[in-house]
Amino acid sequence: MLDKVVIANRGEIALRILRACRELGIKTVAVHSTADRELKHVLLADETICIGNAPATESYLNIPAIIAAAEVTDAIAIHPGYGFLAENADFAEQVEQSGFIFIGPKADTIRLMGDKVSAIEAMKKAGVPCVPGSDGPLTEDSKRNLQIAKRIGYPVIIKAAGGGGGRGMRVVREESELLEAIAITQSEAGAFFGNSMVYMEKFLENPRHVEVQVLADGQGNAIHLGERDCSMQRRHQKVVEEAPAPGITEEMRKFIGERCARACIEIGYRGAGTFEFLYENGEFYFIEMNTRIQVEHPVTEMVTGVDLIKEQLRIAAGQPLSITQDQVVIRGHAIECRINAEDPNSFIPSPGTITHFHPPGGMGIRWDSHIYAGYKVPPHYDSMIGKLITYGENRGIAIARMRNALQELVVDGIKTNGPLQQLIMADENFQNGGTNIHYLEKKLDAEH
Ligand code: ADP
Repeated sequence: MLDKVVIANRGEIALRILRACRELGIKTVAVHSTADRELKHVLLADETICIGNAPATESYLNIPAIIAAAEVTDAIAIHPGYGFLAENADFAEQVEQSGFIFIGPKADTIRLMGDKVSAIEAMKKAGVPCVPGSDGPLTEDSKRNLQIAKRIGYPVIIKAAGGGGGRGMRVVREESELLEAIAITQSEAGAFFGNSMVYMEKFLENPRHVEVQVLADGQGNAIHLGERDCSMQRRHQKVVEEAPAPGITEEMRKFIGERCARACIEIGYRGAGTFEFLYENGEFYFIEMNTRIQVEHPVTEMVTGVDLIKEQLRIAAGQPLSITQDQVVIRGHAIECRINAEDPNSFIPSPGTITHFHPPGGMGIRWDSHIYAGYKVPPHYDSMIGKLITYGENRGIAIARMRNALQELVVDGIKTNGPLQQLIMADENFQNGGTNIHYLEKKLDAEH
């Protein structure tokens, strides 16, 4: 096993990684900013190093400071968590070049999947279903671009090859708007992502977001752990996630899961990863791969019993996968509500000191969070302060437990989106399952 790991992240995921390390007898180094001295995992870690000022660019995105922390503590490996440097190929490369293990895929794999045009090409080759599209970047040839759109059929969406975070996309509904939309997206992509390459896809009107969790050991073994539905979104940010996805049959799970696992072997994937799909009229359409652990990984852990962070650590230590595909059994249902420090109506962040705190409990309740009474939520980072996860033998029980748990959760001193989550859990269409990615925004618009 790994002897000592640097946790290059903060908040709940840093604590989640620390807990997994402890279970495996791995020593931990918490690197943190000046604003994060009181973070729970910093207080629990074997060693701590302050790597810079509060702004992430000066701390959690400061590559030399993180690598230096690994050097001075004699650590073996670095876990990037999610966000920050988790999908930064240059970071992965520098970590390995400095003689440490990057807990994730090889830098080249991150690069391949980080460029959406090359990612789609690789997926098509591996037999993963993709959105009908331009099969490569758009060129300056206007006639060709018009022909591609005609072949795909309007509406189409122009997307930046280097895009991310829901930016660098433009929907086109009429032929007359196409060329201008391409030009604008190209110049925006150049400005935002330093890469003006764009491509075209069919725009799906009312899809769901369904994603497949995979694990690969980089030694020729890869498995899938079923799918999650993350369609409840606001501004491309996931709000509620669940596993399994409502209405996905065992046969469909096997169809799409096996293709993802096979693709992992073809691209030489190593570690935990997620294939994101839009799902419409019974068909899966690949949109991108996340080459890291995701926020919503616990719902998969609850229905499979597999500890994904421990698997990441084992894979990084060079061990083969501890489970085979046949041993993966999906049992029951799990739901995750992201709890954010924000106003439930205006969505304005609400940092500050937590005066009273009571976590929920009982059968089938999991609370992944770093907060405690007296903890001060800093204003510098993402507003997520915890993830409430419930498990039940079926979806109805998981929802009932979530409604209880949300009612029990007390976080005073700051505002949270708890009331919004209650509203979603009480929504009849959510309860029926299978709402699409526009559902929440439409519901919120209708209520205001
Ligand atoms: P990002 O990396 O910026 O998150 P994605 O490719 O994952 O970009 O797309 C983000 C979101 O944009 C999707 O979740 C979906 O809501 C929307 N989207 C992307 N491609 C399409 C498409 N072809 N049709 C409809 N919606 C799309």
